[in-house]
Amino acid sequence: MSTPDPLVVGALSDVLYPPASRHLHVHWRKLVGTAAFAHPEGLSHQERVHRSYRLLHEVNESLADVEGFAADAEQLAAMHEWTAPVDGGLTTVAGIHYNLFLGSVLDLAPDRDLTEFIDLRRTGTFLCTELAHGNNAARLETTATHDPATGGFVLHTPHRGAAKFMPNTGPEGGAKSGLVAARLLVDGEDHGVHLFLVPLRDDQGLRPGVSVEALPETLTSPVDHCVTGFDQVRLPASALLGAFPSGRSAGTGRQRFLRAIGRVTPGKLCMSACGVGVAKTAVTIAMRHAHSRHTADLTPGSTVTLFEHRAHQTRLIDAVATTYAATALHRYAVRRWVEATPEDRPEAERLVAITKGWTTWRGRAVAIECRERCGARGVFRAGGFGDPMANLEGTITAEGDNLVIWAKAAGELALGWRPPADSPAPQDMADPGHLRRLLVGIERSWQRRAARRLRDRAAPSPLSRWNNAVNPALELVDAHAHRLAADALLAMADEASRPARALLRDVHRLFALRRIAAHDGLLLTAGLLTAEQADTLPDLIDDTIADLAPHALALVEAFGVPVAGLPH
Ligand SMILES: Cc1cc2nc3c(=O)[nH]c(=O)nc-3n(C[C@H](O)[C@H](O)[C@H](O)COP(=O)(O)OP(=O)(O)OC[C@H]3O[C@@H](n4cnc5c(N)ncnc54)[C@H](O)[C@@H]3O)c2cc1C
Repeated sequence: MSTPDPLVVGALSDVLYPPASRHLHVHWRKLVGTAAFAHPEGLSHQERVHRSYRLLHEVNESLADVEGFAADAEQLAAMHEWTAPVDGGLTTVAGIHYNLFLGSVLDLAPDRDLTEFIDLRRTGTFLCTELAHGNNAARLETTATHDPATGGFVLHTPHRGAAKFMPNTGPEGGAKSGLVAARLLVDGEDHGVHLFLVPLRDDQGLRPGVSVEALPETLTSPVDHCVTGFDQVRLPASALLGAFPSGRSAGTGRQRFLRAIGRVTPGKLCMSACGVGVAKTAVTIAMRHAHSRHTADLTPGSTVTLFEHRAHQTRLIDAVATTYAATALHRYAVRRWVEATPEDRPEAERLVAITKGWTTWRGRAVAIECRERCGARGVFRAGGFGDPMANLEGTITAEGDNLVIWAKAAGELALGWRPPADSPAPQDMADPGHLRRLLVGIERSWQRRAARRLRDRAAPSPLSRWNNAVNPALELVDAHAHRLAADALLAMADEASRPARALLRDVHRLFALRRIAAHDGLLLTAGLLTAEQADTLPDLIDDTIADLAPHALALVEAFGVPVAGLPH
């Protein structure tokens, strides 16, 4: 295997892990490289669940400031980026403990004493979804009835459909408390969904009135997912996070619900980080394998590496381009969220949702491609793709199902998206400014179609009008995500020092050309592409692949992912 130029690797690494946040990545990279995180062969499902909680203690002990960590979306995301490819069970329980649980308490009731959670003598969980209410959890039915005699509440699951579904409330991990999303009833009036801090189990077992039923094993990372119910559980007044409603609740309904589950936005950034982490790991494994395994040359008797076959090479280089684009988009979304002002929070939130959908879907596609490129060696859990792939499935559904959050963004963009200002770039397919113009052209085209259908008053009901518009509107979201990813990738190239700049511009070119080629008919119709230009696209793409091929190893080594190597 040829050795990549360390200067190029260093320059790429500098933009993938910029100096301001590099220490975060160095911390997690070091931790997941320790013996405690090494692949455990032969563990049962149950033993793997136990192991994830054991690793949670390793994570906790590595943190200098647990509250500071839980309060900071960038730090949380960095942890997910490095742990997701290694132990998805750990990533799940850690994300819930630090972000959904501790983060929500810090946001809504910052004066609480959190010592036992900070020391991890108790694990925090988050109970929102119900059996009958998944993506429509705003309609959840668990009740917390105010008791005027004590000032406290009575938490109750009125029927099986209102039982909490999926949270990690099993016996593994020891003592646990949960933030339970419940409808607050005061004098018979519904004050909307609030969070209640509820002790669920102590070291001796479940608290009275709490029932927990283990769910079957999943195809995702092993976690103690359960169905959890409450039978007239008495809670003190202090269980309510936030202020007791006075008079008519401000923001009852959806607004109230969104405030209670505010931590799902940083949670989406964490899921996005998992997509990035898994993609980086998958493409590193496959690229190293492609450069070390030999196969037949077309000349009898001689051999070449897998990578020397263009068919193999193209798929891996495309996976590299997608992974760089996903990393750039993810970093951009994290910064936008962390720096958002109250005025541009809604837009930043939409960006986070779009990014979550794009990076987790793309991360999964990269992992599947890379597994296939490693043949049978790719199917092993040790050093292979079994865990990273399983670890991504949950991220696609949790913290906002990708399709549902994209559908929300689709509705907003269909009528609200404005094209960015065009640059004076020449109509040259080698010019990044022109490639951007074409990517914006794809967005514009889908938006026109979506907006036209959304404004069609002939539809017999709001649902049928929405159904007419949703598919082009979802294409718009996808086009928007691609263009933002390309912009972020180009910005990364512009920031890179000389040895990496030209290389990253080629990565950007490949990424943009692929997208343009997939929509050439649409761009031809819009008059943005000539027939001649469309005809050159396959050649331009192959030329860019050939330009990138000698640097493919450098591009993946810059990720700095600790991988053990495939079984031989
Ligand atoms: C690994 C994992 C961990 C989890 N951990 C927790 C946890 O700790 N706490 C917790 O409260 N919950 C947790 N969940 C639950 C999670 O939040 C829900 O699974 C999620 O909200 C989706 O709900 P659902 O599974 O009931 O799917 P449903 O809402 O039934 O959706 C099923 C399908 O229908 C589609 N769909 C639904 N509505 C629409 C729509 N309006 N338009 C178009 N398509 C639609 C979805 O895209 C999806 O394909 C976890 C889930 C997973 C996978």
